[in-house]
Amino acid sequence: MLERLLLAMGLVAFVLVALPVHAAPTCGLCRRGIQGEYLVYSQPNGGKLNVCQSCQRSARKCTLCQIPHRESGALCAQCQRTARPCDVCRQVLVGDYRDYRLPGGQPHRVCLSCVRSAATCHACSVPYAANRLRSYPDGTSWCADCASRARTCEGCRSPIQGTFFTVQFQSGHWCAGCFHTQEKCHFCGRPMDSTGAHLPDGRHVCRACFSTSVEGEARVRQIAGRVRPVMQQLLGKPLTPVPVRVVDTQELQRVYRGGAKLDGATNTTASPQSVVSELGVFRIEGRVREILILDALPEDMAWETIAHEMAHAWQAEHYPECNEFDLVEGFAQWVAEKICDRMGRRSGLEKLRHRQDSYGRAYRIVAAIEQQHGVGGIHRALRQNRIPAEFRGIR
Ligand SMILES: [Zn+2]
Ligand SMILES: [Zn+2]
Ligand SMILES: [Zn+2]
Ligand SMILES: [Zn+2]
Ligand SMILES: [Zn+2]
Ligand SMILES: [Zn+2]
Ligand SMILES: [Zn+2]
Repeated sequence: MLERLLLAMGLVAFVLVALPVHAAPTCGLCRRGIQGEYLVYSQPNGGKLNVCQSCQRSARKCTLCQIPHRESGALCAQCQRTARPCDVCRQVLVGDYRDYRLPGGQPHRVCLSCVRSAATCHACSVPYAANRLRSYPDGTSWCADCASRARTCEGCRSPIQGTFFTVQFQSGHWCAGCFHTQEKCHFCGRPMDSTGAHLPDGRHVCRACFSTSVEGEARVRQIAGRVRPVMQQLLGKPLTPVPVRVVDTQELQRVYRGGAKLDGATNTTASPQSVVSELGVFRIEGRVREILILDALPEDMAWETIAHEMAHAWQAEHYPECNEFDLVEGFAQWVAEKICDRMGRRSGLEKLRHRQDSYGRAYRIVAAIEQQHGVGGIHRALRQNRIPAEFRGIR
């Protein structure tokens, strides 16, 4: 018996056999009975395939398993069912490939040609088909997995890789590019995007702050009119109405600086946002009392500023001798906190309560006095112009 063992591409063994006397084998491709020598292939699924010499010469070989077949494509029927395509170009993997694991844990098998040439995700560096990557305004392309896990920059709306920036007491994240190059909103400190506004006096205001702007004297007076009864109820003593005027940054700073320089005839207390920009001022010159409020404040900030300045006016009316900074400013901040909280104007309260400067400390001192001794304790401290010893250590 003639028997040769051959290896096809190292994948499948096939055997050339002499026709056995008792059997009449059929060719698995042409379905005809076989006379003489024929080949027997071991198929990937373990089955055997007889192939006559004519089919062996004429049939196309499967590019994957090298077994002759009569299918229309390059693969035999079995390989068509089981072959694994490259996860980028969808071509059947015949040569070497590289296995990746996607950020979500799924396996991702890529042919070497795609490993070399396909577009990759900016974050995980895995090659993807172009339609599975999304391009972002900052020029990077990301796979859906990485993009969904990353924080999105509030400025350029691109996912952020690596370091991100936040603004204290504000929600949102920014990429280094946006954070370092964009101007900051005058009110909230968030980096501006193209949708912000530039006010005539030079202030830059982000869209969120601008969208609630309180513009013009009428609206400011309307808020003052609503603050007054709440304040009287909170403090138990009335406030004689004080004229309120709306000003721009330049005028406000002129008044504030001027007030700071003048002698005892002028008494100016400012509502702070930071060291450099004031939002409002209460001043007394002789018998003239006046509140100045910066125009176009975001609504919650307008409430807070108006309440703060009206608290100064109230204190000047009832406890004019009180001048200790922690009491004067702590009281104004505490009144503003109470009123904004009651009126549902809460977007600035986190900052008011937790700011780390002298205004934040002054607020915490007065709030602690109230907690221990009630509003009466605050009245007593203002009357005596003295912070009880137990509260002086508060930071
Ligand atoms: Zn045949
Ligand atoms: Zn095959
Ligand atoms: Zn490929
Ligand atoms: Zn990715
Ligand atoms: Zn950005
Ligand atoms: Zn803003
Ligand atoms: Zn103040």
